[in-house]
Amino acid sequence: MSRISYVNGQYIPHSNASVHIEDRGYQFADGVYEVFAVHDGNLVGEQGHLDRLKHSLVSLQIDWPMAKRSFMVVVKEVVRRNHVKFGLVYIQITRGVARRDHPFPTNTQSAIVVTARKMPPLDKNVLNKGVKVITIPDIRWKRKDIKSISLLPNCLGKQQAREAGAFEAWQYDGEGNITEGTSSNAWIVTKDGELVTKQIGSTILNGITRLAVLESAREAGFSVSERAFSIEEAHNAKEAFITSSTSHVKAVTRIDDKIISNGHVGELTSKLLDLYVDYIEEIGGPIVTDRWN
Ligand code: PLP
Repeated sequence: MSRISYVNGQYIPHSNASVHIEDRGYQFADGVYEVFAVHDGNLVGEQGHLDRLKHSLVSLQIDWPMAKRSFMVVVKEVVRRNHVKFGLVYIQITRGVARRDHPFPTNTQSAIVVTARKMPPLDKNVLNKGVKVITIPDIRWKRKDIKSISLLPNCLGKQQAREAGAFEAWQYDGEGNITEGTSSNAWIVTKDGELVTKQIGSTILNGITRLAVLESAREAGFSVSERAFSIEEAHNAKEAFITSSTSHVKAVTRIDDKIISNGHVGELTSKLLDLYVDYIEEIGGPIVTDRWN
């Protein structure tokens, strides 16, 4: 069965889907994106992703390419046409097609692409196995709260991780504090049992998985802090993990040359994965926030 993608008003076989060479996304990375996880045919954290997409579009003064209600119909239709029970749906919205010139064009319709693909269902054994991360300087721009398609520093960082035999790179700022991964949020559990992840602001992307994990950790009565943590604190952590729509809650068992949690998934990490699985199995419900930076 061939994949179907949505491009500016049309459902098209994926292999023939294309955009104009003067799309500003292609020429200036002038656009934003979202990735929703699909679990058992349902979109995970639908409202949270929509709110964040709105935040990204408003921040860059890009218009919605269509009415919001039609937008969700299209997203779900792409999932349906591709028979995705477990996987992801990718949405990219750019400022549209215009003669190449830096200022925003006038009277240009924003452009949209929606693709979906199948992925293996979440597997607790795989996620609890643990991965290695390395630490690298954060060389990105100053508006990391916007889910911009300008991902070159993230690609460079991820490639550096791969070349070091690691799954992810945790980026650190000028003060030596970890901001986040190249495509995930970073978490540690301190020796005192405090669950820590960087507070939101313009220095990280406010992950939808991050929000779900924060909510369930607080509901379960764990000690939670949204604050900066240093590379040194990470190296000395009792446990560590990453969150994202595609990595869910994935244990980290090595940071640079430091073994975390004796090389095994930590107790709290494993509990948080269980809670996250309960959450997405229930409905993957509405994580709503008006705090984006
Ligand atoms: N941080 C960055 C830089 C990301 O690219 C992502 C996901 O792509 C995340 C965090 C996690 O966000 P979410 O949980 O919404 O997938």
